[in-house]
Amino acid sequence: VRRNPGEAEFHQAVREVLDSVVPALTRHPEYADAKIIERICEPERQIIFRVPWEDDRGEVHINRGFRVEFNSALGPYKGGLRFHPSVYLGIVKFLGFEQLFKNALTGMPIGGGKGGSDFDPKGRSDREVMRFCQSFMTELYRHIGEYTDVPAGDIGVGGREIGYLFGQYKRITNRYESGVLTGKGLSYGGAQVRREATGYGTVFFAEEMLRAAGDSFDGKRVVVSGSGNVAIYAIEKVQLLGGTVVACSDSSGYVRDDKGIDLDLLKELKEIRRARIDAYAARRPHASFVAGRTVWEVPCQVALPCATQNEIGAAEAAALIRGGCTIVAEGANMPTRPDAVRAFVEAGVRFAPGKAANAGGVAASALEMQQNASRDSWTFAHSEQRLREIMADIHARCHATAQEYGMPGNYVAGANIDGFRRVAEAMLAHGLI
Ligand code: NDP
Repeated sequence: VRRNPGEAEFHQAVREVLDSVVPALTRHPEYADAKIIERICEPERQIIFRVPWEDDRGEVHINRGFRVEFNSALGPYKGGLRFHPSVYLGIVKFLGFEQLFKNALTGMPIGGGKGGSDFDPKGRSDREVMRFCQSFMTELYRHIGEYTDVPAGDIGVGGREIGYLFGQYKRITNRYESGVLTGKGLSYGGAQVRREATGYGTVFFAEEMLRAAGDSFDGKRVVVSGSGNVAIYAIEKVQLLGGTVVACSDSSGYVRDDKGIDLDLLKELKEIRRARIDAYAARRPHASFVAGRTVWEVPCQVALPCATQNEIGAAEAAALIRGGCTIVAEGANMPTRPDAVRAFVEAGVRFAPGKAANAGGVAASALEMQQNASRDSWTFAHSEQRLREIMADIHARCHATAQEYGMPGNYVAGANIDGFRRVAEAMLAHGLI
């Protein structure tokens, strides 16, 4: 805490991982000898830069850009860019730290990094977003590359932003380096299923949790927070597997629709019109909009937090438990506070942390890099099948590791220990660097 003052989210993420890797440290004294913990908590490189841009009225704005290159023991730094006014170094470091173990869990050759800016894309025109992205990339380009650091999207950075960022990278470097960014459009090197991958992957993971208990999504009531990229495709896959999503949200409140969320309407409102969630209830007379509250008060059997960090505290966890929830799988990064995780565990709710449950996004990004490197493009069906296998494999490893360490069913311990061990082994092999 003294070394990284004021970075509350980073402290929370580090504490959560360190708490659960203690048994691995006891079993592997060589990790302590090589000061793996101290080294793993210190990013390899942190870049902070000025991003000047001009709005449509000619007014000049200055934002701050970040890229934290956390750890490259397993491969090039890999992780998304977030554009949101709440972004500061503590958020980027928490996300980069989580990313490192998540990427390790996928079993693919990718290291951990994260970046972004305190720029708020909300209410900005396409041209303003384009000018911002161009200015952001004018600095970022010198730090990234197919073999060094490969950014992707996150909150506020979707297909439109990745397109502008890629265009500027190509222009500055005069290189068509497809593998420098992932989440690209299908017309210029993007991969099938990348857009759907985080949401679908979270649902595949939850499906494995259900299967392990002899159950399935069929007939389940599900609530999903958020209505962005992760949430929309989580809702889509739940519906395809026979569940009913009865509520979703944005930062203004939530909509409840007991007949099941109308996905076409939600996509039209969120992906095309960029509307607020109350517009959904205005178009579906039997649905209701509840302003300023969270979805967790709606009774459900499965909860998929897919919006943002720290959205489930003790009160929300208690409401979920009261409402009959038995499975929570995190689509977002660290949406559940530590006290809420404890409450779930004590109540016997099976809980999957984001670094395992939402790893489908980065896994699909690694598949996109694989296709770019071989100048190939796979079908939707093949890509989805690969994603499904990867999620089943992550689930199996978390499950087995938790068992190996005498904590059966504890996905938090399983994910943290397995991810940590993979990174630690590679760091040991590379020597003191
Ligand atoms: P988007 O920007 O597409 O969507 C975020 C959604 O969450 C929006 O609907 C937003 O509403 C909503 N939201 C934000 N804050 C709150 C809040 N306090 N209460 C309720 N809703 C809120 O982002 P993504 O879907 O890409 O990312 C969501 C989460 O998933 C993040 O934690 C991200 O780090 C994580 N993630 C994303 C991956 C990806 O591939 N995209 C990969 C792995 C993790 P509003 O529009 O009102 O702000």
